[in-house]
Amino acid sequence: MPKNIVVIGAGLGGLTSAALLAQKGHKVTVLEQGDWIGGKSRRIEVAGQVIDTGPSLFTFPGVWETFLAKYQELGGKLPKDLEFIRLAEVGRYFFRGDQIDIPVPESHQWHKPWQKFVAQHKALEGPITTLLTSAPLDLKALPALGKLLNVYGTRLSTNNYLNSLSWMPEGLKDLIAIHTLNAGVSPDQTLPIYASMTAIMSEQGISVPRGGMNEVPQLLAKLAEESGAEILLGQRVMSISKHAVKTQERSYSADVVVSSLDASLTDALISGKTAKMAPNRSCSGVAIYAALKNPLPAGTVTHSVVMPDDPADLYRALKSNSSPNQTMSFVNYYEPGHIYSNKKATVAVLLTAPADSADYDLKTPWVRDELDRVSNLIGLERPIDELFEDFKVLNANYFEGFGALGGALYGAKNPLWQSGPFHNPSYRSLTKPWLYRVGASVHPGGGIPAVMGGAMNSISSLI
Ligand SMILES: Cc1cc2nc3c(=O)[nH]c(=O)nc-3n(C[C@H](O)[C@H](O)[C@H](O)COP(=O)(O)OP(=O)(O)OC[C@H]3O[C@@H](n4cnc5c(N)ncnc54)[C@H](O)[C@@H]3O)c2cc1C
Repeated sequence: MPKNIVVIGAGLGGLTSAALLAQKGHKVTVLEQGDWIGGKSRRIEVAGQVIDTGPSLFTFPGVWETFLAKYQELGGKLPKDLEFIRLAEVGRYFFRGDQIDIPVPESHQWHKPWQKFVAQHKALEGPITTLLTSAPLDLKALPALGKLLNVYGTRLSTNNYLNSLSWMPEGLKDLIAIHTLNAGVSPDQTLPIYASMTAIMSEQGISVPRGGMNEVPQLLAKLAEESGAEILLGQRVMSISKHAVKTQERSYSADVVVSSLDASLTDALISGKTAKMAPNRSCSGVAIYAALKNPLPAGTVTHSVVMPDDPADLYRALKSNSSPNQTMSFVNYYEPGHIYSNKKATVAVLLTAPADSADYDLKTPWVRDELDRVSNLIGLERPIDELFEDFKVLNANYFEGFGALGGALYGAKNPLWQSGPFHNPSYRSLTKPWLYRVGASVHPGGGIPAVMGGAMNSISSLI
């Protein structure tokens, strides 16, 4: 029987759910508090140039393909799919005075161990995609789980697993381990699967849709609307109950509620109590988006990763929610006409930051120091912000405005045993069978593959 379904939030989690549920024939209304589609994946203009904020790299394309296949199975017609442009490298990493591209080139001393590592993880690409798109404890996922256990054995964290690889140089371990920050947590708090992700990304490559990342939520919204879903912007949900979702303006009756909000915010809207900041939280970011007066020097790659000299020190700072001495930064650089049809070059400098609600800007001492360090390491003669024509800074305070308290990008940080199939919260609870949870705070990992996979898993019984 078609149901009245209210989806809360028009980010990637909400839109993935809305497209599939509407295509299945349910009556779907999406309520979004902001005035844009995409949540953290937002499109802005800086000095007349189009820049997408939030996610910048598209990984694990098998999850996207699984979504499209499900949409078609339900009878949906696909418009032209996105054109994914594979970047020449996974990234150029700057670490302790060295500069290393991934995949590690033959000329680098780490080439052999890197090749060995990639070879050991090659067979896990399919199983990881299966696990990302399978409900917890789904029997069909057991063979995939078996393949992972064959590689990791009893090593339960990324750190434990990497430390067991006696043949691997310590620096290479650090470089692989830092990728757990893409899930907002340190490598002692994540499953070993995160180590494999680096190797798989190196094989599969990373990509960006032509036109930019915001093309992803735009296409999802189009599929949802073409399937009959109604997407209402500027509708802030004030309370959620078994039969109704209330905004400031009106009440929407609902047989089912799909919430893509941070789990703590969903709970607060149900209980009527004020949401509490989780003591242990995933990281936030200071994200600086700029249009440049002139392109960066020739040879600057699209995606650079500037590592801290002492990753352990950064993990400690993030755990105690204090400012780091040095952090891990992404520098995403687009030449004019690359990916976007911009006339000017643009850059995003994304500094990993504590989830402390702060309103940091370029004058904040640790941000200033990091910008200078990043500029120097990527080979600029002047601080990068001297090349900005105009810029915009998004920080923990901004992310808190529509997400988890503190600005934690992936919500609360759960104990290790809850970072797999037993994740907390679960997609559904026994006491509230009408509530389905999706979004970055639910499926471990929190990036686009986890959010889209998690949404498909959560609502599977409804489609
Ligand atoms: C700087 C940055 C870089 C990133 N880089 C990558 C990357 O390269 N690759 C990758 O895979 N992932 C990346 N991520 C993660 C990825 O962006 C997120 O995991 C994903 O976008 C989260 O989607 P979501 O639907 O869970 O949440 P959101 O996008 O936060 O959506 C939730 C929506 O709910 C709305 N909302 C909140 N409260 C209410 C309310 N009361 N009523 C109505 N609506 C409400 C919000 O406005 C928002 O639109 C990055 C994130 C950031 C911030």
